[in-house]
Amino acid sequence: MHNETMYNLGSAPSAIRELFAYGMERKAQIGDDNVFDFSIGNPSVPAPDSVAQAIRDLADVPPAELHAYSAAQGLESTRAAIAENLNKRFGTSYTADNFYLTMGAAACLSACFTALVNPGDEVIVISPYFPEYRVWIEFAGGVCVEVPAREDNFQIDLDALKAAITTKTKAVVINTPNNPVGTVYTRETLEGLAAVLKDAEKTFGHPIYLISDEPYRELTYGVEVPWVPAIYNNTLVCYSWSKSLSLPGDRIGYVLVPDEVDDARAVYLAVCGAGRSLGYICAPVFFQRIIERVVDEPTNVEAYAVNRQILTSALDELGYEYIAPDGAFYLWIKALEPDAQAFSNKAKEHELLLVPSDSFGVGGWVRAGYCIAQDTIERSIPAFAALKKDYE
Ligand code: PLP
Repeated sequence: MHNETMYNLGSAPSAIRELFAYGMERKAQIGDDNVFDFSIGNPSVPAPDSVAQAIRDLADVPPAELHAYSAAQGLESTRAAIAENLNKRFGTSYTADNFYLTMGAAACLSACFTALVNPGDEVIVISPYFPEYRVWIEFAGGVCVEVPAREDNFQIDLDALKAAITTKTKAVVINTPNNPVGTVYTRETLEGLAAVLKDAEKTFGHPIYLISDEPYRELTYGVEVPWVPAIYNNTLVCYSWSKSLSLPGDRIGYVLVPDEVDDARAVYLAVCGAGRSLGYICAPVFFQRIIERVVDEPTNVEAYAVNRQILTSALDELGYEYIAPDGAFYLWIKALEPDAQAFSNKAKEHELLLVPSDSFGVGGWVRAGYCIAQDTIERSIPAFAALKKDYE
């Protein structure tokens, strides 16, 4: 007999994927241009030309070398290039040995939870949160504890966080810039967070790790994204190039375990062990080599900045409430009725695909991913107007 938990996960697609699949079906029925699909975080900005150039260059590498396995944790030269990039930007002194390369931020996070969690350990997430966190934490044998973000600005509610920490707390996960809200945690928030965690470490006498999930790190609109390990020593960073260089299908990312982490070597080896037990070894080597060549490539946020501007000014005019996003490419819009699912269903009647906030652990909002064509956003405005009218 198969594993029932796995069956349930496999047979119940996520709300985001379900809405995306509905959108594909609807587009086939009424035409691509008539569906305004804000459901998924697939970057609309093309990957930079340097990626295509690197792919062409690699065609000349002898096949026996090009297609060979790398070490489980990735090519040393790629990890060294990533270290150098971060050291230049953040004044750090990382080396190749601080990095474990694996398949996108998803595998990084899952490996970190598996590396850190013992049965019954608690991992705190800030709600609303990326729904897969719960899946990975529970798979690792942990308990996912939700702490709601502040309602006024969706920064971390430090008092609520403090109250939620227990002797079983092993880690806290943060995501800044944030999916689904678009918030970037301020330096003040992060310093407050570090103070709460350091205090709790003293009280409970064991490390509390901060897992910083950062696939949107470079996607910001004029605000600072502080380097989290410089603020709290016990930070592990999970990163991918899925959003920053528009390479989501190429499944490449890293876990960074800085030397400053308590028991850093043991934690790094536990990440390696988690990668081994999950089968997340030897990340796609072709794309390891690509990353080594394009690691310094800047992120193109221009198109998202324009989309953000068009959408927010239209929604201002129509009288919608939303959280002004400082980063990522999502707009968190207040539903016009308390039931977010019902509001999302109503939006569907206007061919507007908005993800209900229940999928992210809170009620009353929807998420619009504006990483889509500018033209689609412009043409979606009458649909937002009609949806508003339904509630007047
Ligand atoms: N974390 C967050 C907050 C995300 O939004 C995503 C993807 O959308 C991931 C992790 C997973 O990223 P990747 O595609 O690199 O696995």
